[in-house]
Amino acid sequence: MTTSEPASSGCASGPHDRPQSMCPAFGSLRVGLRMRRTATVLSGSACCVYGLSFTSHFYGARRTVHYVPFDSETLVTGKLFEDIREAVHQLADPEKNDVVVVINLCVPSASGVPLRLLPKEINGVRIIGIDVPGFGVPTHAEAKDVLAGAMLGYARHEAEQGPVAAPREGRQDKPTVTLLGEMFPADPMTIAALLEPLGLANGPVVPTREWRELYGALDCAVTAAIHPFYTQCVRELELAGRPIVGSAPVGYDGTAHWLEAIGQAANVPTKKIDEAKNRFLPAIKGALSAVPIKGRITLSGYEGSELLVARLLIESGADVPYVGTACPKTPWSQVDREWLEAKGVRVNYRATLEEDIAAIDEYGPDLAIGTTPVVQEAKQRALPGLYFTNLISARPLMGPAGAGSLGQVINAALANKVRFDRMKGFFGDIGQGPSAGIWQEVPQDRPEFRKKQRRSIPIKSITGEVL
Ligand code: SF4
Repeated sequence: MTTSEPASSGCASGPHDRPQSMCPAFGSLRVGLRMRRTATVLSGSACCVYGLSFTSHFYGARRTVHYVPFDSETLVTGKLFEDIREAVHQLADPEKNDVVVVINLCVPSASGVPLRLLPKEINGVRIIGIDVPGFGVPTHAEAKDVLAGAMLGYARHEAEQGPVAAPREGRQDKPTVTLLGEMFPADPMTIAALLEPLGLANGPVVPTREWRELYGALDCAVTAAIHPFYTQCVRELELAGRPIVGSAPVGYDGTAHWLEAIGQAANVPTKKIDEAKNRFLPAIKGALSAVPIKGRITLSGYEGSELLVARLLIESGADVPYVGTACPKTPWSQVDREWLEAKGVRVNYRATLEEDIAAIDEYGPDLAIGTTPVVQEAKQRALPGLYFTNLISARPLMGPAGAGSLGQVINAALANKVRFDRMKGFFGDIGQGPSAGIWQEVPQDRPEFRKKQRRSIPIKSITGEVL
């Protein structure tokens, strides 16, 4: 029952030393591409931009990814910055755009291409330049916060100068709760229903879908840090004087605690908070017991919602001994961490792939939920695995709608063990280790080469000392 601190051990000394996730800039790019009237420009190596634009269109972006190419000469002579400035001027058309976002990838960030020297505004169009290098921003989740936080900061300064645009649907007549974190589309609706008896309403979800929503986000009574890694956004909202509440309304205990915390932060009378709890908690209990989960599950991911999902699994009856998250430890997941640790769960922040796989060895689960390589490792061992991003975080989690929503997919995966055993029995060790891939002659293993290469790599202790 321990909580790991951010990895400073010898096993992960940075994304470029040991790449373990997609390019983090994807998080910022996605936030920009999902906003109306927003032009997003990448500045970086062509291969990085190819991968990022491919991935963004794979995930359904319907916007153009702009790109300012460079070579060694334009990089070292400063011409690249001039090219970026020219691109920004071309895109700063107030008829089309509210904001132009420029994202420095690894090479321009490392070379110090000074996006801070871009004009802050051209023809009324806001210009925002951010550095999102893989060696500086550990996960794509945190890269979402880099851009969303920069936008909130810009909008906060605008609001301090004078009147700003009202929300498209007009201002709410109730105090609002801003929601931090991308969620399944039904979740904000469920949260709105939970807030209604408290006399509160949903504010915008940050990252927002258009610029004017940022003002609405800043204009809240309370901010709910549903995803706990939005630290730059939290800083901006705190500077605007807004109280922050961590965790989320997941499961029975989580919803009860969240309603109390939000209600207290918004000065809602205790009687109303109790009424809300009495209205929703029995339905949540019923939904959880209707789809019980029986089995041992290890869980890991890089979305930032791993602790919330683990709470739901445990309340559904699952045995969850380990939760790994690539995201850092922040105050906004403390309630979830304490709840999980009280149930005997090992919570591992800044978890590496090796640690997530070691947890499978240690706990021998019936199902491993994780990132693609964790799931691949599990399936190679004939162990059912579920990909967190596509199969778990793309489901409702909040309130009565979230309770029990995981049961069906988890139970179907648990029931697959027999099929895995059958496949394993049929294929044996074919296609593994030295016999992987397509070959014409029977491949020969060369353990002596591996041994020789391993000997020439220095081994570090957990404190980073070379042994
Ligand atoms: S920008 Fe950096 S982290 Fe992203 S793909 Fe390029 S080299 Fe990798």
